Amino acid sequence: METDCTRCELPLSMCEHGLRDRTAKTAGAGAEKLLISPTGLAHFGGCPHKGDDPDLSRWAEIRDENAWLKLANGESLPATDGADLALVARARCLDCVNHGPWR
Ligand SMILES: [Zn+2]
Ligand SMILES: [Zn+2]
Repeated sequence: METDCTRCELPLSMCEHGLRDRTAKTAGAGAEKLLISPTGLAHFGGCPHKGDDPDLSRWAEIRDENAWLKLANGESLPATDGADLALVARARCLDCVNHGPWR
């Protein structure tokens, strides 16, 4: 059965809200590298939260094309690269979710 949008009551496959959610979910699919902040948030490279600070000594990376979608599905992903391999990405930066990759 089709889910109706809670905002406009059209089926999600037809309304703009559903479209926006689907776009936001898949925008980062295929990003070859994500950054993990010291707080466990996953970002696309170039996120303004990182700003101009080039210091990545407390950050880590995930190299997995499906990482963004896995995180969208609620999975936690351990760092595969970068300075702090003990980091685990548990959620996605909302700015990155809304914006998609920063390039
Ligand atoms: Zn809607
Ligand atoms: Zn971000």
